[in-house]
Amino acid sequence: MKNKQFWFIVGSQHLYGPEVLETVAARAAEMAAEMKKSLLIPCTIVYKATVKTCEEITALMKEANYDDNCYGVITWCHTFSPSKMWINGLELLQKPWCHFATQYNREIPNDEIDMDFMNLNQAAHGDREHGFIGARLRKSRKIVMGYWRDKGPLKELGLWMRSAVGVAESRGLKVCRFGDNMRNVAVTEGDKVEVQRKLGWQVNTWAVGDLVKEMNAVTDAEIDALMAEYAWKYDMNTDKVENVRYQAREEIAMKRFLDRVGAEAFTNTFEDLYGMEQLPGLASQRLMEQGYGYGGEGDWKVSAMTRIVKAMTEGMGGGSAFMEDYTYHLKEGEEYSLGAHMLEVCPSVAADKPRIECHHLGIGMNEKDPARLVFEGKAGPAVVASLIDMGGRLRLIVQDIEAVKPIMDMPNLPVARVMWRAYPDLCTGAKMWILAGGAHHTVLSYDATAQMLEDWAEMMDIEYVHIGKDTTMEGLKQQLLLADLTWKLK
Ligand code: MN
Repeated sequence: MKNKQFWFIVGSQHLYGPEVLETVAARAAEMAAEMKKSLLIPCTIVYKATVKTCEEITALMKEANYDDNCYGVITWCHTFSPSKMWINGLELLQKPWCHFATQYNREIPNDEIDMDFMNLNQAAHGDREHGFIGARLRKSRKIVMGYWRDKGPLKELGLWMRSAVGVAESRGLKVCRFGDNMRNVAVTEGDKVEVQRKLGWQVNTWAVGDLVKEMNAVTDAEIDALMAEYAWKYDMNTDKVENVRYQAREEIAMKRFLDRVGAEAFTNTFEDLYGMEQLPGLASQRLMEQGYGYGGEGDWKVSAMTRIVKAMTEGMGGGSAFMEDYTYHLKEGEEYSLGAHMLEVCPSVAADKPRIECHHLGIGMNEKDPARLVFEGKAGPAVVASLIDMGGRLRLIVQDIEAVKPIMDMPNLPVARVMWRAYPDLCTGAKMWILAGGAHHTVLSYDATAQMLEDWAEMMDIEYVHIGKDTTMEGLKQQLLLADLTWKLK
Protein backbone atom coordinates (compact mmCIF):
# COMPACT_ATOMS: atom_id res chain seq x y z
CA MET A 1 0.00 0.00 0.00
CA LYS A 2 2.78 2.45 0.91
CA ASN A 3 4.26 2.16 -2.60
CA LYS A 4 1.08 3.53 -4.08
CA GLN A 5 1.13 7.29 -4.63
CA PHE A 6 -1.53 9.96 -4.48
CA TRP A 7 -0.57 13.32 -5.90
CA PHE A 8 -1.26 16.40 -3.80
CA ILE A 9 -1.88 19.28 -6.21
CA VAL A 10 -2.45 22.78 -4.89
CA GLY A 11 -4.39 25.34 -6.87
CA SER A 12 -3.34 28.97 -6.97
CA GLN A 13 -2.62 31.75 -9.52
CA HIS A 14 0.07 34.35 -10.28
CA LEU A 15 -1.95 37.26 -8.85
CA TYR A 16 -0.42 37.02 -5.36
CA GLY A 17 3.27 37.32 -6.31
CA PRO A 18 6.15 34.86 -5.88
CA GLU A 19 6.46 35.17 -2.09
CA VAL A 20 2.94 33.93 -1.43
CA LEU A 21 3.41 31.10 -3.92
CA GLU A 22 6.63 30.02 -2.21
CA THR A 23 4.87 29.94 1.16
CA VAL A 24 2.01 27.94 -0.34
CA ALA A 25 4.42 25.41 -1.87
CA ALA A 26 6.42 25.03 1.36
CA ARG A 27 3.27 24.50 3.42
CA ALA A 28 1.83 22.01 0.93
CA ALA A 29 5.04 19.97 1.04
CA GLU A 30 4.93 20.05 4.85
CA MET A 31 1.29 18.94 4.89
CA ALA A 32 1.92 16.05 2.47
CA ALA A 33 4.89 14.88 4.55
CA GLU A 34 2.89 15.10 7.80
CA MET A 35 -0.25 13.39 6.48
CA LYS A 36 1.82 10.61 4.94
CA LYS A 37 3.03 9.70 8.45
CA SER A 38 -0.48 9.19 9.82
CA LEU A 39 -1.53 5.59 10.43
CA LEU A 40 -4.88 6.51 8.91
CA ILE A 41 -3.24 7.15 5.53
CA PRO A 42 -2.41 3.79 3.91
CA CYS A 43 -0.64 5.11 0.80
CA THR A 44 1.96 7.76 0.09
CA ILE A 45 0.89 11.37 -0.43
CA VAL A 46 3.32 13.19 -2.72
CA TYR A 47 3.24 16.96 -2.97
CA LYS A 48 3.42 17.52 -6.71
CA ALA A 49 2.99 21.18 -7.56
CA THR A 50 1.35 24.50 -6.88
CA VAL A 51 -0.39 25.12 -10.18
CA LYS A 52 -1.06 28.55 -11.62
CA THR A 53 -2.00 28.12 -15.27
CA CYS A 54 -4.20 26.04 -17.53
CA GLU A 55 -1.13 24.62 -19.29
CA GLU A 56 0.48 23.48 -16.02
CA ILE A 57 -2.70 21.76 -14.86
CA THR A 58 -3.31 20.06 -18.20
CA ALA A 59 0.26 18.76 -18.35
CA LEU A 60 0.07 17.45 -14.78
CA MET A 61 -3.26 15.65 -15.29
CA LYS A 62 -1.87 13.97 -18.42
CA GLU A 63 1.13 12.84 -16.39
CA ALA A 64 -1.19 11.50 -13.65
CA ASN A 65 -3.10 9.48 -16.24
CA TYR A 66 0.03 7.82 -17.58
CA ASP A 67 1.94 7.24 -14.35
CA ASP A 68 1.09 3.73 -13.10
CA ASN A 69 2.31 4.64 -9.60
CA CYS A 70 -0.27 7.41 -9.35
CA TYR A 71 -3.55 6.03 -7.96
CA GLY A 72 -5.34 9.34 -7.72
CA VAL A 73 -5.03 13.08 -7.28
CA ILE A 74 -5.91 15.17 -4.25
CA THR A 75 -6.52 18.84 -4.97
CA TRP A 76 -6.67 21.72 -2.54
CA CYS A 77 -6.88 25.47 -2.88
CA HIS A 78 -4.72 27.31 -0.35
CA THR A 79 -5.56 30.55 -2.17
CA PHE A 80 -8.13 31.32 -4.82
CA SER A 81 -7.50 29.36 -8.01
CA PRO A 82 -9.66 30.52 -10.93
CA SER A 83 -11.31 27.38 -12.21
CA LYS A 84 -11.47 28.03 -15.94
CA MET A 85 -7.80 27.10 -15.93
CA TRP A 86 -8.76 23.67 -14.48
CA ILE A 87 -11.29 22.75 -17.19
CA ASN A 88 -8.93 21.24 -19.78
CA GLY A 89 -6.96 19.20 -17.23
CA LEU A 90 -9.96 17.90 -15.29
CA GLU A 91 -11.70 16.91 -18.52
CA LEU A 92 -8.70 14.71 -19.35
CA LEU A 93 -8.22 13.28 -15.85
CA GLN A 94 -8.92 9.54 -15.74
CA LYS A 95 -7.63 8.86 -12.22
CA PRO A 96 -9.74 9.13 -9.05
CA TRP A 97 -10.05 12.68 -7.78
CA CYS A 98 -10.49 13.93 -4.23
CA HIS A 99 -11.13 17.58 -3.46
CA PHE A 100 -9.67 18.07 0.00
CA ALA A 101 -11.32 21.12 1.54
CA THR A 102 -8.94 22.08 4.31
CA GLN A 103 -6.66 24.94 5.32
CA TYR A 104 -3.14 25.28 6.68
CA ASN A 105 -4.10 27.09 9.88
CA ARG A 106 -6.62 25.59 12.24
CA GLU A 107 -7.93 28.80 13.78
CA ILE A 108 -8.43 32.39 12.71
CA PRO A 109 -5.59 34.34 14.46
CA ASN A 110 -7.37 37.24 16.11
CA ASP A 111 -4.45 39.69 16.26
CA GLU A 112 -2.62 38.62 13.15
CA ILE A 113 -5.45 38.62 10.65
CA ASP A 114 -5.15 41.43 8.08
CA MET A 115 -5.43 41.65 4.28
CA ASP A 116 -2.06 39.92 3.74
CA PHE A 117 -3.26 36.99 5.82
CA MET A 118 -6.50 36.95 3.83
CA ASN A 119 -4.64 36.84 0.52
CA LEU A 120 -2.56 33.88 1.61
CA ASN A 121 -5.22 31.93 3.54
CA GLN A 122 -8.45 31.77 1.63
CA ALA A 123 -9.22 28.07 1.35
CA ALA A 124 -12.93 28.64 1.98
CA HIS A 125 -12.98 31.05 -0.95
CA GLY A 126 -10.87 28.84 -3.24
CA ASP A 127 -12.82 25.69 -2.36
CA ARG A 128 -16.06 27.13 -3.66
CA GLU A 129 -14.61 28.07 -7.04
CA HIS A 130 -13.02 24.61 -7.19
CA GLY A 131 -16.30 22.96 -6.14
CA PHE A 132 -18.23 24.78 -8.84
CA ILE A 133 -16.04 23.51 -11.64
CA GLY A 134 -16.30 19.93 -10.35
CA ALA A 135 -20.08 20.24 -10.34
CA ARG A 136 -20.18 22.06 -13.68
CA LEU A 137 -18.09 19.38 -15.37
CA ARG A 138 -20.25 16.63 -13.78
CA LYS A 139 -16.99 15.12 -12.65
CA SER A 140 -17.08 12.32 -10.10
CA ARG A 141 -15.08 13.39 -7.07
CA LYS A 142 -14.77 12.72 -3.37
CA ILE A 143 -15.07 15.76 -1.16
CA VAL A 144 -13.33 15.57 2.22
CA MET A 145 -13.70 18.57 4.54
CA GLY A 146 -11.89 19.31 7.79
CA TYR A 147 -8.59 20.22 9.37
CA TRP A 148 -5.74 18.23 7.81
CA ARG A 149 -4.25 17.07 11.11
CA ASP A 150 -7.58 15.76 12.48
CA LYS A 151 -8.46 12.09 12.62
CA GLY A 152 -11.91 12.46 11.01
CA PRO A 153 -10.81 13.90 7.66
CA LEU A 154 -7.61 11.82 7.58
CA LYS A 155 -9.62 8.64 8.11
CA GLU A 156 -12.04 9.63 5.37
CA LEU A 157 -9.17 10.44 3.03
CA GLY A 158 -7.42 7.16 3.87
CA LEU A 159 -10.50 5.05 3.18
CA TRP A 160 -11.11 6.89 -0.08
CA MET A 161 -7.52 6.06 -1.07
CA ARG A 162 -8.34 2.42 -0.49
CA SER A 163 -11.38 2.72 -2.76
CA ALA A 164 -9.13 4.32 -5.39
CA VAL A 165 -6.72 1.39 -5.06
CA GLY A 166 -9.79 -0.76 -5.81
CA VAL A 167 -10.34 1.27 -8.98
CA ALA A 168 -6.81 0.54 -10.21
CA GLU A 169 -7.19 -3.12 -9.24
CA SER A 170 -10.45 -3.31 -11.18
CA ARG A 171 -9.01 -1.70 -14.30
CA GLY A 172 -6.16 -4.22 -14.46
CA LEU A 173 -8.00 -7.32 -13.27
CA LYS A 174 -7.96 -10.66 -15.04
CA VAL A 175 -10.42 -13.39 -14.09
CA CYS A 176 -9.61 -16.98 -15.03
CA ARG A 177 -12.65 -19.22 -15.48
CA PHE A 178 -12.12 -22.96 -15.16
CA GLY A 179 -15.23 -24.10 -16.97
CA ASP A 180 -18.43 -22.15 -17.55
CA ASN A 181 -21.20 -20.89 -15.28
CA MET A 182 -23.50 -23.39 -13.63
CA ARG A 183 -26.27 -24.40 -16.02
CA ASN A 184 -29.51 -22.38 -15.86
CA VAL A 185 -28.43 -19.95 -13.12
CA ALA A 186 -29.34 -16.34 -13.99
CA VAL A 187 -27.64 -14.08 -11.47
CA THR A 188 -24.14 -15.39 -12.12
CA GLU A 189 -24.37 -14.45 -15.81
CA GLY A 190 -23.51 -11.06 -17.27
CA ASP A 191 -22.19 -9.04 -20.17
CA LYS A 192 -18.40 -9.53 -20.21
CA VAL A 193 -17.88 -6.94 -22.92
CA GLU A 194 -19.74 -4.28 -20.94
CA VAL A 195 -17.90 -5.27 -17.76
CA GLN A 196 -14.54 -4.86 -19.48
CA ARG A 197 -15.58 -1.49 -20.92
CA LYS A 198 -16.91 -0.21 -17.61
CA LEU A 199 -14.72 -1.92 -15.01
CA GLY A 200 -11.70 -3.09 -16.99
CA TRP A 201 -12.03 -6.80 -16.15
CA GLN A 202 -10.66 -9.33 -18.62
CA VAL A 203 -12.85 -12.38 -18.04
CA ASN A 204 -11.75 -15.45 -19.98
CA THR A 205 -12.11 -19.22 -19.90
CA TRP A 206 -9.44 -21.91 -19.73
CA ALA A 207 -10.04 -25.61 -20.13
CA VAL A 208 -10.27 -27.68 -16.95
CA GLY A 209 -8.03 -30.18 -18.78
CA ASP A 210 -5.21 -27.61 -18.88
CA LEU A 211 -5.47 -27.27 -15.11
CA VAL A 212 -5.39 -31.05 -14.74
CA LYS A 213 -2.17 -31.11 -16.79
CA GLU A 214 -0.70 -28.57 -14.39
CA MET A 215 -1.84 -30.71 -11.44
CA ASN A 216 -0.11 -33.76 -12.88
CA ALA A 217 3.15 -31.81 -13.04
CA VAL A 218 3.15 -31.05 -9.28
CA THR A 219 5.82 -33.07 -7.43
CA ASP A 220 5.52 -35.01 -4.17
CA ALA A 221 8.20 -32.79 -2.62
CA GLU A 222 6.10 -29.69 -3.37
CA ILE A 223 3.06 -31.35 -1.80
CA ASP A 224 5.13 -32.37 1.27
CA ALA A 225 6.20 -28.76 1.80
CA LEU A 226 2.63 -27.46 1.56
CA MET A 227 1.36 -30.22 3.89
CA ALA A 228 3.88 -29.00 6.50
CA GLU A 229 2.40 -25.52 6.23
CA TYR A 230 -1.15 -26.93 6.60
CA ALA A 231 -0.01 -28.81 9.72
CA TRP A 232 1.03 -25.69 11.62
CA LYS A 233 -1.67 -23.36 10.32
CA TYR A 234 -4.69 -25.62 10.78
CA ASP A 235 -5.90 -28.50 12.94
CA MET A 236 -5.80 -31.71 10.96
CA ASN A 237 -9.17 -33.25 11.85
CA THR A 238 -9.12 -36.11 9.35
CA ASP A 239 -7.16 -39.29 8.68
CA LYS A 240 -7.81 -39.08 4.94
CA VAL A 241 -4.34 -37.68 4.29
CA GLU A 242 -4.41 -38.55 0.59
CA ASN A 243 -7.50 -36.41 0.10
CA VAL A 244 -5.75 -33.46 1.74
CA ARG A 245 -2.64 -34.06 -0.37
CA TYR A 246 -4.85 -33.95 -3.45
CA GLN A 247 -6.10 -30.48 -2.43
CA ALA A 248 -2.47 -29.39 -1.94
CA ARG A 249 -1.80 -30.55 -5.50
CA GLU A 250 -4.79 -28.52 -6.69
CA GLU A 251 -3.65 -25.45 -4.76
CA ILE A 252 -0.13 -25.52 -6.20
CA ALA A 253 -1.38 -26.11 -9.73
CA MET A 254 -4.09 -23.43 -9.60
CA LYS A 255 -1.69 -20.84 -8.16
CA ARG A 256 0.87 -21.62 -10.84
CA PHE A 257 -1.77 -21.44 -13.56
CA LEU A 258 -3.25 -18.15 -12.31
CA ASP A 259 0.17 -16.52 -11.92
CA ARG A 260 1.16 -17.61 -15.40
CA VAL A 261 -1.91 -16.09 -17.06
CA GLY A 262 -1.75 -13.04 -14.78
CA ALA A 263 -5.13 -13.66 -13.12
CA GLU A 264 -5.82 -12.55 -9.55
CA ALA A 265 -9.29 -14.10 -9.49
CA PHE A 266 -10.80 -17.38 -10.66
CA THR A 267 -13.94 -19.45 -10.83
CA ASN A 268 -14.73 -23.12 -11.19
CA THR A 269 -17.86 -25.22 -11.19
CA PHE A 270 -18.79 -28.58 -9.71
CA GLU A 271 -20.42 -29.35 -13.07
CA ASP A 272 -17.06 -29.44 -14.79
CA LEU A 273 -14.35 -31.29 -12.88
CA TYR A 274 -13.28 -33.38 -15.84
CA GLY A 275 -10.17 -35.32 -14.81
CA MET A 276 -10.27 -34.12 -11.17
CA GLU A 277 -11.06 -36.30 -8.16
CA GLN A 278 -12.29 -33.50 -5.93
CA LEU A 279 -13.87 -30.08 -6.26
CA PRO A 280 -11.14 -27.75 -4.93
CA GLY A 281 -12.30 -26.84 -1.42
CA LEU A 282 -9.30 -26.39 0.82
CA ALA A 283 -7.36 -25.37 -2.32
CA SER A 284 -9.77 -22.54 -3.19
CA GLN A 285 -9.96 -21.42 0.44
CA ARG A 286 -6.18 -21.25 0.62
CA LEU A 287 -5.93 -19.18 -2.56
CA MET A 288 -8.52 -16.73 -1.24
CA GLU A 289 -6.50 -16.47 1.99
CA GLN A 290 -3.54 -15.47 -0.19
CA GLY A 291 -5.58 -12.70 -1.78
CA TYR A 292 -7.05 -14.28 -4.91
CA GLY A 293 -10.69 -13.69 -5.74
CA TYR A 294 -12.99 -16.70 -6.03
CA GLY A 295 -16.52 -17.39 -7.17
CA GLY A 296 -18.29 -20.74 -7.07
CA GLU A 297 -20.46 -22.12 -9.89
CA GLY A 298 -18.64 -19.98 -12.45
CA ASP A 299 -19.65 -16.73 -10.75
CA TRP A 300 -16.95 -14.46 -12.18
CA LYS A 301 -18.60 -11.23 -10.95
CA VAL A 302 -18.36 -12.22 -7.29
CA SER A 303 -14.85 -13.60 -7.87
CA ALA A 304 -13.66 -10.27 -9.26
CA MET A 305 -15.41 -8.32 -6.49
CA THR A 306 -13.78 -10.53 -3.84
CA ARG A 307 -10.36 -9.73 -5.30
CA ILE A 308 -11.11 -6.00 -5.53
CA VAL A 309 -12.34 -5.85 -1.93
CA LYS A 310 -9.23 -7.74 -0.80
CA ALA A 311 -7.01 -5.28 -2.69
CA MET A 312 -8.83 -2.29 -1.17
CA THR A 313 -8.60 -3.61 2.37
CA GLU A 314 -5.06 -5.00 2.32
CA GLY A 315 -3.51 -5.01 5.77
CA MET A 316 -6.71 -4.04 7.65
CA GLY A 317 -6.89 -7.44 9.31
CA GLY A 318 -10.63 -8.06 9.51
CA GLY A 319 -10.96 -10.38 6.54
CA SER A 320 -13.08 -10.66 3.39
CA ALA A 321 -14.61 -13.77 1.88
CA PHE A 322 -16.71 -15.21 -0.89
CA MET A 323 -20.04 -15.92 0.83
CA GLU A 324 -23.47 -17.33 0.13
CA ASP A 325 -26.76 -16.81 1.90
CA TYR A 326 -27.89 -20.28 2.83
CA THR A 327 -30.64 -20.58 5.39
CA TYR A 328 -32.56 -18.47 7.93
CA HIS A 329 -33.22 -18.79 11.66
CA LEU A 330 -36.64 -17.20 12.05
CA LYS A 331 -37.35 -17.48 15.75
CA GLU A 332 -39.34 -14.35 16.55
CA GLY A 333 -37.08 -11.59 17.86
CA GLU A 334 -33.98 -13.72 17.23
CA GLU A 335 -33.71 -13.75 13.46
CA TYR A 336 -30.43 -14.63 11.80
CA SER A 337 -29.07 -15.52 8.39
CA LEU A 338 -26.63 -18.39 8.03
CA GLY A 339 -23.98 -17.96 5.37
CA ALA A 340 -21.79 -20.76 4.09
CA HIS A 341 -20.86 -22.50 0.86
CA MET A 342 -20.59 -26.12 -0.19
CA LEU A 343 -16.83 -25.83 0.55
CA GLU A 344 -15.29 -22.47 -0.22
CA VAL A 345 -15.34 -19.73 2.43
CA CYS A 346 -12.12 -17.74 2.93
CA PRO A 347 -10.40 -18.50 6.27
CA SER A 348 -9.45 -14.81 6.66
CA VAL A 349 -12.84 -14.43 8.39
CA ALA A 350 -12.32 -17.33 10.83
CA ALA A 351 -12.75 -16.64 14.56
CA ASP A 352 -10.38 -19.48 15.54
CA LYS A 353 -7.90 -21.89 14.03
CA PRO A 354 -9.69 -23.68 11.15
CA ARG A 355 -9.90 -27.49 11.02
CA ILE A 356 -9.15 -29.52 7.91
CA GLU A 357 -11.90 -32.10 7.43
CA CYS A 358 -12.99 -34.46 4.65
CA HIS A 359 -16.65 -35.18 4.05
CA HIS A 360 -18.80 -36.62 1.33
CA LEU A 361 -20.08 -34.04 -1.16
CA GLY A 362 -23.10 -35.26 -3.05
CA ILE A 363 -23.18 -32.37 -5.51
CA GLY A 364 -20.88 -32.60 -8.50
CA MET A 365 -18.48 -35.14 -9.91
CA ASN A 366 -16.40 -35.81 -6.76
CA GLU A 367 -14.86 -39.30 -6.69
CA LYS A 368 -13.32 -38.70 -3.25
CA ASP A 369 -14.52 -36.75 -0.20
CA PRO A 370 -13.13 -33.24 -0.70
CA ALA A 371 -10.98 -31.72 2.04
CA ARG A 372 -12.05 -28.29 3.27
CA LEU A 373 -11.44 -25.86 6.12
CA VAL A 374 -14.24 -25.78 8.68
CA PHE A 375 -14.59 -22.84 11.08
CA GLU A 376 -16.93 -20.26 12.56
CA GLY A 377 -16.80 -16.67 11.31
CA LYS A 378 -15.93 -13.83 13.65
CA ALA A 379 -18.46 -11.58 15.34
CA GLY A 380 -18.55 -7.89 14.43
CA PRO A 381 -19.88 -5.29 12.02
CA ALA A 382 -19.47 -6.21 8.36
CA VAL A 383 -20.99 -5.73 4.92
CA VAL A 384 -22.16 -8.04 2.18
CA ALA A 385 -21.86 -6.83 -1.41
CA SER A 386 -23.28 -8.14 -4.67
CA LEU A 387 -22.72 -6.90 -8.21
CA ILE A 388 -25.52 -7.73 -10.62
CA ASP A 389 -26.05 -7.15 -14.33
CA MET A 390 -29.36 -5.34 -14.83
CA GLY A 391 -29.13 -5.46 -18.63
CA GLY A 392 -27.60 -2.24 -19.89
CA ARG A 393 -26.00 -1.41 -16.56
CA LEU A 394 -24.38 -2.86 -13.47
CA ARG A 395 -25.76 -2.44 -9.96
CA LEU A 396 -23.71 -2.83 -6.79
CA ILE A 397 -25.83 -3.66 -3.74
CA VAL A 398 -24.26 -3.33 -0.30
CA GLN A 399 -25.92 -4.28 2.95
CA ASP A 400 -24.72 -3.56 6.48
CA ILE A 401 -24.77 -6.62 8.71
CA GLU A 402 -23.77 -7.53 12.25
CA ALA A 403 -22.04 -10.90 12.38
CA VAL A 404 -22.45 -12.87 15.59
CA LYS A 405 -20.89 -15.95 17.06
CA PRO A 406 -23.18 -18.66 15.66
CA ILE A 407 -25.89 -19.25 18.25
CA MET A 408 -25.58 -23.06 17.87
CA ASP A 409 -22.65 -25.32 17.11
CA MET A 410 -24.28 -27.29 14.23
CA PRO A 411 -22.02 -30.33 14.75
CA ASN A 412 -23.15 -32.06 11.54
CA LEU A 413 -22.64 -29.08 9.25
CA PRO A 414 -19.36 -29.94 7.48
CA VAL A 415 -18.49 -26.46 6.19
CA ALA A 416 -17.35 -23.04 7.38
CA ARG A 417 -20.22 -20.86 8.56
CA VAL A 418 -20.92 -17.21 9.38
CA MET A 419 -24.09 -16.03 11.11
CA TRP A 420 -25.43 -12.49 11.01
CA ARG A 421 -28.26 -10.06 11.55
CA ALA A 422 -28.95 -7.82 8.58
CA TYR A 423 -29.93 -4.15 8.77
CA PRO A 424 -32.42 -2.61 9.23
CA ASP A 425 -33.59 -5.99 10.59
CA LEU A 426 -33.33 -9.45 9.09
CA CYS A 427 -36.77 -9.68 7.48
CA THR A 428 -36.92 -6.08 6.21
CA GLY A 429 -33.31 -6.30 5.08
CA ALA A 430 -33.92 -9.54 3.19
CA LYS A 431 -37.02 -8.04 1.59
CA MET A 432 -34.96 -5.06 0.40
CA TRP A 433 -32.13 -7.26 -0.85
CA ILE A 434 -34.61 -9.37 -2.81
CA LEU A 435 -36.36 -6.29 -4.20
CA ALA A 436 -33.05 -4.86 -5.41
CA GLY A 437 -32.15 -8.19 -7.02
CA GLY A 438 -29.07 -8.96 -4.89
CA ALA A 439 -27.47 -12.35 -5.58
CA HIS A 440 -27.10 -15.32 -3.24
CA HIS A 441 -23.33 -15.01 -3.76
CA THR A 442 -21.72 -12.04 -2.04
CA VAL A 443 -18.43 -10.66 -0.83
CA LEU A 444 -18.59 -10.51 2.96
CA SER A 445 -16.09 -8.06 4.43
CA TYR A 446 -15.26 -7.03 7.98
CA ASP A 447 -12.93 -4.34 6.58
CA ALA A 448 -14.66 -2.64 3.68
CA THR A 449 -17.39 -0.19 4.66
CA ALA A 450 -20.48 0.72 2.67
CA GLN A 451 -18.93 4.16 2.16
CA MET A 452 -15.77 2.67 0.62
CA LEU A 453 -17.84 0.57 -1.77
CA GLU A 454 -20.05 3.55 -2.61
CA ASP A 455 -16.96 5.59 -3.48
CA TRP A 456 -15.67 2.74 -5.61
CA ALA A 457 -19.01 2.38 -7.44
CA GLU A 458 -19.13 6.12 -8.06
CA MET A 459 -15.60 6.14 -9.47
CA MET A 460 -16.47 3.18 -11.73
CA ASP A 461 -19.67 4.96 -12.77
CA ILE A 462 -22.08 2.15 -11.87
CA GLU A 463 -25.34 2.14 -9.93
CA TYR A 464 -25.06 1.80 -6.16
CA VAL A 465 -27.72 0.64 -3.69
CA HIS A 466 -27.11 0.70 0.05
CA ILE A 467 -29.26 -1.13 2.59
CA GLY A 468 -28.49 0.12 6.08
CA LYS A 469 -30.16 0.91 9.36
CA ASP A 470 -31.91 4.01 7.98
CA THR A 471 -33.10 2.52 4.68
CA THR A 472 -36.87 2.47 4.26
CA MET A 473 -38.86 0.31 1.86
CA GLU A 474 -40.57 3.40 0.48
CA GLY A 475 -37.27 5.18 -0.12
CA LEU A 476 -35.67 2.14 -1.70
CA LYS A 477 -38.58 1.59 -4.10
CA GLN A 478 -38.36 5.18 -5.21
CA GLN A 479 -34.59 4.97 -5.63
CA LEU A 480 -34.83 1.85 -7.80
CA LEU A 481 -37.56 3.39 -9.94
CA LEU A 482 -35.56 6.59 -10.48
CA ALA A 483 -32.40 4.60 -11.18
CA ASP A 484 -34.15 2.77 -13.99
CA LEU A 485 -34.97 6.10 -15.62
CA THR A 486 -31.63 7.76 -14.86
CA TRP A 487 -29.47 4.96 -16.22
CA LYS A 488 -31.46 4.87 -19.45
CA LEU A 489 -30.54 8.52 -20.00
CA LYS A 490 -26.84 8.12 -19.11
MN1 MN B 1 -22.87 -21.05 -4.64
